[in-house]
Amino acid sequence: MSERPAVSLSRVSRHFGLTRAMDEVDLEIAEGEFFAMLGPSGSGKTTCLRVIAGFEQPTSGEVRIFGENATGVPPYRRNVNTVFQDYALFPHMNVADNVAYSLMLRKVPKAERARQAEEALEMVRLPGYGARRPAELSGGQRQRVALARAIINRPKVLLLDEPLGALDLKLRENMQEELKSLQRRLGITFVFVTHDQSEALSMADRIAVFNAGKVIQVGAPEEVYRRPASPFVADFVGSSNILPPDFVEAVAGEKRWASLRPEQVRVTEPGDANPRLVGRVTAQSYLGATTRFAVALDGIALHAIVPAGSFQPADDGRVAIAFDRSALHFMDGPA
Ligand code: ATP
Repeated sequence: MSERPAVSLSRVSRHFGLTRAMDEVDLEIAEGEFFAMLGPSGSGKTTCLRVIAGFEQPTSGEVRIFGENATGVPPYRRNVNTVFQDYALFPHMNVADNVAYSLMLRKVPKAERARQAEEALEMVRLPGYGARRPAELSGGQRQRVALARAIINRPKVLLLDEPLGALDLKLRENMQEELKSLQRRLGITFVFVTHDQSEALSMADRIAVFNAGKVIQVGAPEEVYRRPASPFVADFVGSSNILPPDFVEAVAGEKRWASLRPEQVRVTEPGDANPRLVGRVTAQSYLGATTRFAVALDGIALHAIVPAGSFQPADDGRVAIAFDRSALHFMDGPA
């Protein structure tokens, strides 16, 4: 990590009464990084974002922005802008005035405001939309206007709170690519809150996984996916099989928790002479390119994902399960 991270949190806690929304969080976000904060509802992601933005003060701990202690520094003096989930556009103002709002507050002359607003709209691929009202835009276009407004004064850090949450799936996927390319073009540090693991995996340079106010793991998408630090991470990022210590001891000789990705589980006909795990298919879902089987073994249930059409169980549903020992990822659990 660089000597002066864009954002650093040391042992930051934020309590609301008895609720520990953030519990001793340590984080370092590098300049120019696309950083995702991922976790289930209520895990503390938004509180963390608000603490970085300055809308919320930590109960204890320290926030630094480009090396400077941010304690007591108001949001508008932090070189940090926020894009909210609901976009918070002013309905009575046209798009250009919405985008240039912060320039108006700073009394930048009108012609200059118009020029910079158009430039920001070009960045988000909405050139020429300045005269419209927010009500005359689609959801995806409103989202871009909110982005244009947030980047017009070139903040060094952009905080995004579930910015794609209100969009339908197709548009979401398009906007994921656009956001990523916008971030590369601007070179701004993006800190992005999401509860959608596939969004975090596909967009982020690094991911912090939150649970119950704590950061459980920080790492590159592949690292978090392949080497989850705990059963919680394995379950939340992707959809791993979480194997309890007794089961792992029986199949692999090691009494520890382990995760096993469904795509690494093979499903075949039972009755082979090899000592294998035999179970019964309890559910089968067609996912397009793949099929997912739920298989009940002695005492545990496993999911397997196989190429569609590659295997069909017999009528009684009995199948054999196999996987390589190297596919097991051992973990300390279960937190
Ligand atoms: P979501 O994905 O649902 O937005 P989150 O991970 O962003 O969830 P937070 O909004 O940070 O979670 O909330 C963390 C915890 O802190 C929750 O238990 C929440 O109820 C609590 N909390 C957040 N803000 C406040 C507040 N202003 N007053 C009291 N409790 C709060």
